[in-house]
Amino acid sequence: MMENKKDIRALTKEQLREFFINQGDKAFRGNQVYEWLWQKSAHYFSDMTNISKETRLMLEDNFVINHVEVDTMQRSSDGTVKNAVRLHDGLIVESVLIPTATRTTACVSSQVGCSLDCKFCATARLKRMRNLNPDEIYDQVVAIDKESRLYHNRPLSNIVFMGMGEPLMNYNNVLKAIDKITSSDGLAMSPKRIVVSTSGVPKMIKKMADDEVKFKLAVSLHSAIDEVRDSIMPFNKTFPLKDLREALEYWYAKTKNRITYEYVVWDGINDKRRDVDALVKFCKFAPSKVNLIEYNPIDDGEFQQAKSSAIDMYQEVLESNNITVTIRRSRGKDIDAACGQLANKNKV
Ligand code: SAH
Repeated sequence: MMENKKDIRALTKEQLREFFINQGDKAFRGNQVYEWLWQKSAHYFSDMTNISKETRLMLEDNFVINHVEVDTMQRSSDGTVKNAVRLHDGLIVESVLIPTATRTTACVSSQVGCSLDCKFCATARLKRMRNLNPDEIYDQVVAIDKESRLYHNRPLSNIVFMGMGEPLMNYNNVLKAIDKITSSDGLAMSPKRIVVSTSGVPKMIKKMADDEVKFKLAVSLHSAIDEVRDSIMPFNKTFPLKDLREALEYWYAKTKNRITYEYVVWDGINDKRRDVDALVKFCKFAPSKVNLIEYNPIDDGEFQQAKSSAIDMYQEVLESNNITVTIRRSRGKDIDAACGQLANKNKV
């Protein structure tokens, strides 16, 4: 029966080798199948052409390959591509390919919907339905890599976990997916080209430091003043800035990695001098970079992008305090693919 079959990609290479030994076959067969599943991203057992037909049928009797399917693909006038990706249970997540002159970045989802409640983010309006499995995260990357080769004649160069969901609330699966992405059995990408972005879950930031992860960390800060952050990111009441800061200090002490902050400046919310001063004070303990992200409107006007004079003030004050600043323009707005716009609009 279909529902009794196990997802074969939930098995480690070692477990797959053991499975074949128990079948009276060679352990090596496990390596071959594993290569088909990960390196070659086979969707069907029938694709595995160097495996005998008999063995393929036996695998089909025992397992399924829950591969994701790109359900719809939209291309923006600026080259950005957005995939609506259908999971084996029919749910949809979105991922985005962002090309620039020098790199192609995949922005991938880690959860269906999101458990957090940021007031300015479209994904927050979808309740969290479930965590993605490692293979579902991996498949999104593979799909974008293919599109990058097809449309831009080059492989994917970078990955950001800035799609739907809070990656640190699905930490184990995100870590397993990154292991596969960076492993020579998978895509062999460098972990230095991967950024995990979090709204700031202190306990998990410390865990990442303890696990000595090699990828980079970005924190969606948006305000370094508790009352302001409480009002736009209500979970800040549970994880206040003091705890976040302590976790980041721990992260820096262990990894010596610069911290990147994602930050949108909104009119009348965090556009005053005291907001910048608080930010400077918050990031002083470690080398920091602040990405000032353009706001992508998702609502009826509760949030408005700050005036350019406020952005200029942020840039000036941060730079005079030796904090690196980048001003990030949004991409793919015409197809709702920009930061905070992923909400399965065409699908749900
Ligand atoms: N939950 C993680 C991963 C999502 S990343 C995190 O919060 O970091 C999505 C990024 O886009 C975050 O930095 C988020 O704060 C930002 N964002 C959300 N809504 C936005 C919007 N409407 N305009 C611009 N940026 C937005």
